[in-house]
Amino acid sequence: MMVWSARRIVEAAGIRCMIRNEFAGGALGLLSPLDTWPELWVLDERHAERAIKTLAESTAVDAEKPEWNCPHCAETNAGSFETCWNCGR
Ligand SMILES: [Zn+2]
Repeated sequence: MMVWSARRIVEAAGIRCMIRNEFAGGALGLLSPLDTWPELWVLDERHAERAIKTLAESTAVDAEKPEWNCPHCAETNAGSFETCWNCGR
């Protein structure tokens, strides 16, 4: 989920990117876990530093959001979470 969220943030900054290994999870057990993790790739290397900076700024902003309690299961979630990590609502 983190990679898809990162792609949304990077694309919103006007940087073209793609996810590699998007469907490699099905090969888990045949390949090493590291070879099946999804990866975010910036298509133009010249924009890589700006993409990293954009993600770092996005994370810093999210870290400032207060924790919240899920109204469904009452679990405490980090402010950066848009959905409850426990129940997914
Ligand atoms: Zn919940």
